[in-house]
Amino acid sequence: MLFLSDTVENLPKVGPKRKQRLEKLGIFTVKDLLYHYPRRYEDRSIKIPIPKLKDGDMTSGYGEIVRYDKKILRGRKSLVSILLKNKDDHFFIKIFNNNYILAQLEVGRKVYFYGKASITYEAAEFINPEMEFDEAKSKVGVIYPLYPATEGMSTDEIAKLIRFALDNYKLDDLEYLNDELLDRFKLMDLKKSIKNIHTPENLNILKAARYRCIFDEFFKLCVFLKKQRDIRLLEEGVSIKMAEDLDEKIESLPFELTLAQKKVLDEILENMEENTPMRRLVQGDVGSGKTIVALLAAYNAIKSGYQVALMVPTQILASQHFNAAEKFFKENNKEEIKIQLLSSSTKGKKEVYKKILEKEADFVVGTHALISEGVEFDNLGLVITDEQHRFGVMQRENLNRKSHLVPDSLLMSATPIPRTLSLVLHGDLDISVIDAMPKGRKKIKTSAFEKSKVKAAYDLIEAEIIKGHQAYIICPLIEDSENFDLTPATVLYEKLKKGRFKNYRLGLLHGAMKAADKDSLMEEFASGKIDILVSTTVIEVGIDVPNATILAIYDAERFGLSQLHQLRGRVGRGDEQSYCLLLHSAKTQNAKERIKTMVQTSDGFEIAEKDLELRGGGEIFGTRQHGQIKFNIADPNANASILLFAKKCCDEIFSEREKYQEIIKKMNQNIYEEIIIS
Ligand code: ADP
Ligand code: MG
Repeated sequence: MLFLSDTVENLPKVGPKRKQRLEKLGIFTVKDLLYHYPRRYEDRSIKIPIPKLKDGDMTSGYGEIVRYDKKILRGRKSLVSILLKNKDDHFFIKIFNNNYILAQLEVGRKVYFYGKASITYEAAEFINPEMEFDEAKSKVGVIYPLYPATEGMSTDEIAKLIRFALDNYKLDDLEYLNDELLDRFKLMDLKKSIKNIHTPENLNILKAARYRCIFDEFFKLCVFLKKQRDIRLLEEGVSIKMAEDLDEKIESLPFELTLAQKKVLDEILENMEENTPMRRLVQGDVGSGKTIVALLAAYNAIKSGYQVALMVPTQILASQHFNAAEKFFKENNKEEIKIQLLSSSTKGKKEVYKKILEKEADFVVGTHALISEGVEFDNLGLVITDEQHRFGVMQRENLNRKSHLVPDSLLMSATPIPRTLSLVLHGDLDISVIDAMPKGRKKIKTSAFEKSKVKAAYDLIEAEIIKGHQAYIICPLIEDSENFDLTPATVLYEKLKKGRFKNYRLGLLHGAMKAADKDSLMEEFASGKIDILVSTTVIEVGIDVPNATILAIYDAERFGLSQLHQLRGRVGRGDEQSYCLLLHSAKTQNAKERIKTMVQTSDGFEIAEKDLELRGGGEIFGTRQHGQIKFNIADPNANASILLFAKKCCDEIFSEREKYQEIIKKMNQNIYEEIIIS
């Protein structure tokens, strides 16, 4: 018996070498092979009669061999010329450097071919076309698939293996929906879809097949997330009652919480009180005030006697949150709350680990270092991940497992993806949105300057500094590179320090600096000892210095919209009017559109939508690079509407759980075999 779960070695002519090559493509089993979809197709079904051919036309055709000969050319090259005829005309096929072909040739034999026509004044000819003898089998006259290939494993070889699998394995097991559902959702069944995505009968069927295959990947994701959610809801977590003095703590803040912040905090407190573990995503545009909400949740957990961990993507951000936490927890706080910083550059890690394990630390702020092997908490009750989209699913999960408890977890994120997509892709989470800015915030005034008009931008920067404010200047690179059009941070810093801004205090910040140097520089900037910070995008996420009111971005066309929006979010964090200056030399339509969008729009959700529209094929969920969920054909960016539809179908099925029990069971089996979570 042949099973789809057979490893590829069971296929003809696949030995250890080819097995290895297939594995490089992520193909381990026959099923994987069937899910290795073509990247694109060549339409070899086009048949133009010989007399109608124009030079350069691609066509399939047919002929019978009239005669053939072989010539030896210079440099040990050879040429086989074949004269053929069909009902329309005579024509030639010419084959260079293939001596094996002679054995196939015989006067009167039928030849099917696909290739490019060159029209000489004598006759039409085809040079090195694809050929099949006696009958058209798989390469000629069809819509031919082209696969992602690898060295030593060509797209043709992959196609051949897949055809073998299609012919010899039973595909009925692939389908998990029943006829009623296929009909209701208007989907082609999976067996037919897989067959047609590899060997399409025609373009219309191919379209429907592709749709089903894309749907398939999204649908499995939705079911997977639903399942994750179900498992969590059955788990026993911690129940954290609202701290008695929490209201007092809120009263003591230097500002009043916005209604949006209060609403989200209430949602969090409610979850924390329940026994089921919280998994809540807090979304809010840059500057909407997520940190304080997280700190209040932390305060609440610590007051109940639990430890809290806050994980952030960069060291600079870790230090900043550490400082903010220090202030927050110290203020009018009678019993001491002990806080601890942990990043890869933290000295005396063993001591720190010991402190964490022995509950000598209540609140631990850190980077990825938090999920290092040695870290173990005594009673971790709440886990907070800031800028959560920077982490992979597994990194977040690993932090949750740093304690014998099942902690509540809070994920925070500005909104790099549109709201509707986020609802689907985060289907395992509850979502809260901080949908308003703190009172008194003024809209950041954004303007674009051609790079040659940089003087005008400098004037604006100087005007802000004279008012006692601070400025950021962002560059895409640290050092000089091959690309002379770009302005590197180090070069600009030296130039401005000696030139235009020689009377001001300048700082230079970039990723190649030591963590300690970055920290002390950021501290100097935060305490107002630096007027202008020239920086790379290391300041992109989370940095909060409200006195900085102007930000210039060099070579702005080099950045994506979401990133520009994140960068812009470094200003406009206080009551003062803030400015964002985009210095650019945008040439392409797409780049111009991005700059224009930034000038016109300040809403993060709107920008995310536009980003989706402009980027087309990019990665929205950070899918691959974080090793989350693997899509072979689906692209949340390009196929957003299919994603939403898949979610709707999934919800429909689960709303009638009883009725669809068997189907749900089958899907779950499928999914655990297929979805790769690393
Ligand atoms: P983000 O949501 O981008 O993480 P932060 O939490 O860093 O934003 O907050 C941005 C700034 O707004 C901080 O300086 C913070 O102290 C301030 N802030 C937060 N909430 C309020 C509020 N309700 N009123 C005034 N300022 C606030
Ligand atoms: Mg933040």
